[in-house]
Amino acid sequence: MRLVYAIPLHNRFRGITVREGVLLRGPAGWGEFCPFADYSDAESSPWLASAVEASEVGWPAPVRDRVEVNTTVPVVSPERAHELVVASGCRTAKVKVADPRSSLVDDCDRVAAVRSALGRGGAIRVDANMAWDVDTAVKSIRELDRAAGGLEYVEQPCPSIEDLAAVRRQVGVRIAADESIRRAEDPLKVAVAGAADVAVIKVAPLGGVRRALEVAEACGLPCVVSSAVETSVGLAAGLALAGALPSLEFACGLGTRSLLTGDVTSAELSPADGYLPVPRTAPEPDLAENVAAPADVRDHWLARLERVEASRRMSS
Ligand SMILES: [Mg+2]
Repeated sequence: MRLVYAIPLHNRFRGITVREGVLLRGPAGWGEFCPFADYSDAESSPWLASAVEASEVGWPAPVRDRVEVNTTVPVVSPERAHELVVASGCRTAKVKVADPRSSLVDDCDRVAAVRSALGRGGAIRVDANMAWDVDTAVKSIRELDRAAGGLEYVEQPCPSIEDLAAVRRQVGVRIAADESIRRAEDPLKVAVAGAADVAVIKVAPLGGVRRALEVAEACGLPCVVSSAVETSVGLAAGLALAGALPSLEFACGLGTRSLLTGDVTSAELSPADGYLPVPRTAPEPDLAENVAAPADVRDHWLARLERVEASRRMSS
């Protein structure tokens, strides 16, 4: 059984305003196939492997029953940032910085407002999404660290692994690799190059929970599990990974349900008091009808899924 959904986002993300994908039903439950539109069929293959694992095999047993998650603070005023953090109930906030719409001074003001909302016991991480060169990164990280009264880590300050390593040698704040870890072989390079202290990992691009566990072990870095802005069916796979990792030092980026205006299920995976439960299977998509994609979108996704399935069959 296949259900194609189309759910508007509250804010534009990766250039899209509507999140689309296919839910697959198999003997083990539901899986989600939702590679972004700019992913080739070859790049989409691990996303299918992840959906097939969830629907046909199921996930390895977890070692914890709940996972702490961070709230995300977009480019907003310091007042709004304070409100968002307090309302989230989370003890960790990830603050978007280095956006074209925001100066370093604005970023520092926003980070300071987040600290006042979290108090000393909270943790603040910032995400630059590859925006800086090495010198700008070093200067900006020092100022943001001061404004934050201590940063937990900085996510992907620069695009290349070499530049991440250069920044890491010059600042006292941990560096996390996100965009650098897109394919299964990359995390090893990141660790070997001394480019990061933390690895941000996502289930679908790595090809499923088991594959992601192997990658986490091979890279030898503490991992933060993040979503690809899936529905609660896909978020369940991320939680299965976070639940199965032998150690989990940092809050995960799986509290993203609220980025979507709707969901496929009444059993939504939205955080309570900064935590999400670790499910053994994905929730039933009992509300998928409400967010069913229009016919042309449905046909596009079913054809895309068939192509990726065919190419997986050929390569296996
Ligand atoms: Mg990131």
